[in-house]
Amino acid sequence: MGGEARPRFLCAEAPFESARVVLLGCPFDETASFRRGALFGPDAIREASDCLETYSPHLDKDLEDAALCDLGDVDFASGDTESVLASIQAEAVKIFQAGKRPICLGGEHLVSLPAVEAALGVYPGLAVFQWDAHADLRDDYLGERLSHACAMRRILELEGVGPLRQFGVRSGTREEFEWMRAKDTLRPLSPEAVSAALKETVDSAIYLTLDVDVVNPGEMPGTGSPEPGGPGFDALIDCISVLSDSGARIVGADVVELAPELDPTGASAVAAAKLVRELALVLGA
Ligand code: MN
Ligand code: MN
Repeated sequence: MGGEARPRFLCAEAPFESARVVLLGCPFDETASFRRGALFGPDAIREASDCLETYSPHLDKDLEDAALCDLGDVDFASGDTESVLASIQAEAVKIFQAGKRPICLGGEHLVSLPAVEAALGVYPGLAVFQWDAHADLRDDYLGERLSHACAMRRILELEGVGPLRQFGVRSGTREEFEWMRAKDTLRPLSPEAVSAALKETVDSAIYLTLDVDVVNPGEMPGTGSPEPGGPGFDALIDCISVLSDSGARIVGADVVELAPELDPTGASAVAAAKLVRELALVLGA
């Protein structure tokens, strides 16, 4: 982990040993297909969290009651994608094997792949809930199989992975949509749909991967591949409330694809930080 002093997420003061939820920064954006900048996501989320309250009125929970640890960023010894993913996986394995729940701060969407692989070591049959404007099911993108546009396809190839549910997807190839319709993975991002999907996966632990571009770009412009349309921020909060109220076993999560410099107002980073706060409260319950 990085040795220099780094910003830390809002009241993430717990040492690793006593933490329930562990934040892990994954500043990687090498494969972003349209505009880069997700590299700066983890620190932007931490800095923006300063302007949030620790109390969530939606969940009626306070982060001060959650044992939250911020491990800092994964150290990437070399720049090639496979070794970066291996480094993330090694850190995530430590968190899962210690019985704790990570929230990875992206970074581009490919960082979910090693996190899910690490989770499967502890939770075979893990279900994956993807909140995303894009299907991310391509077999390759311009010949590259390790691309953020292929993140879910690679996750589906992991041994032992359970059901996938894709919420809010509104962009993809004809083949991706044919696959999602045939496999019945596609859902609207609404409280009713999340609640129904929880009932379908009631026997599984769940990993939630939240690509911030699922939010309408008017409310979340700071992302590399904005996709017009989509739910507003409040709809996501309502869906997270469903996760909280249902007592769903969300054992890991990530918030990916924030590219803070693409939103000069800084509001996208604050929105992403608020999503991290709400998820930390859900995972910490
Ligand atoms: Mn994505
Ligand atoms: Mn996306």
